[in-house]
Amino acid sequence: MKERKRPILYIVVPCFDEEEVLPETKRVLEEELEKLVQKRQILKKSKLVFVDDGSRDGTWGLIEKFSREKNIEGVKLSRNFGHQAALLAGLNFARENGADATVTIDADLQDDPRVIREMVEEFRRGAEIVFGVRESRETDTRFKRGTARGFYKLMNFFGAKTVPDSADFRLLSRRAVEELEKFKEVNLFLRGIVPEIGLKTAKVEYKRGKRVAGKSKYPLRKMIHFAAEGITSFSTKPIKLVFLAGALISLLSAGVLVYAVVVKLLGQTVSGWTFIIVSIWLLGGAQMIAIGIIGEYIGKIYLETKGRPRFIVEKTTRSSRAFRSSRK
Ligand code: UDP
Ligand code: MG
Repeated sequence: MKERKRPILYIVVPCFDEEEVLPETKRVLEEELEKLVQKRQILKKSKLVFVDDGSRDGTWGLIEKFSREKNIEGVKLSRNFGHQAALLAGLNFARENGADATVTIDADLQDDPRVIREMVEEFRRGAEIVFGVRESRETDTRFKRGTARGFYKLMNFFGAKTVPDSADFRLLSRRAVEELEKFKEVNLFLRGIVPEIGLKTAKVEYKRGKRVAGKSKYPLRKMIHFAAEGITSFSTKPIKLVFLAGALISLLSAGVLVYAVVVKLLGQTVSGWTFIIVSIWLLGGAQMIAIGIIGEYIGKIYLETKGRPRFIVEKTTRSSRAFRSSRK
């Protein structure tokens, strides 16, 4: 099979208050990059890109210092936009600067940089997207493992298709980044969106290690926020649940009606009680159904306003740029 030629590889590292770990990260990734150049897997123009996501410590100072070396660049965001936005900024930078393939990897070295080589191999065999998949989570704390598992379960239940046990350690070809950039949504959830791109994908497995230094920048609060973002930006299922609850309560109100009439016939009520109690249930149910229906429409509007591309053409016989455009 014909291999792709050696790519210009960019490695994008989002950093938020990572001064403790950064020198080590830089050393390890640079070494990896050099090895790949020597093994003639990637071109010399390949680079390491650090994205500073509004750090409050000395992270940017370090990045500036690193960037005196010609294979290292830095991107500084104006404030903390969050992990996902930092990744996108890095991908965008890489594409604009001519990267043929871009690997995104966390700054804490929890994801094994040695599998970048395998990612590049998959890319050269034609994959546009290569997911890094953790084969075990032994080194994560039990709490992290538990919450992470719950997170993926919840996500799938609510209809966001994520690749289980893959985080934001992956390779995207230039082509995949271009398609990704067509997803215009403000609430970005890359783990859900990247599988939506389609195209030829591959997976490489690795063992997830411990954070080399520094603390996790994902406290429970951020994790919950992240999960909520993931769910609400991928499905309107929660609204459907409101509708279901309404329908259920309406059904129950029939039971209440029977009960109220029986109580009345037994003469155990004050006058007017039956009417009030049945009304409460019936109206409550009806209202919830109504809210649910309205919600359905709002949900549709919500999905529409995102203006996501409705389809992505993989190729045509005349693969000109104009033909690739998927809008309208
Ligand atoms: N990160 C970021 N912006 C944030 C939070 C985190 O750029 O607001 C980066 C962080 O520097 C790291 C990566 O995202 O490179 C993953 O964060 P972390 O390792 O703390 O998350 P965990 O592995 O604990 O889920
Ligand atoms: Mg981490």
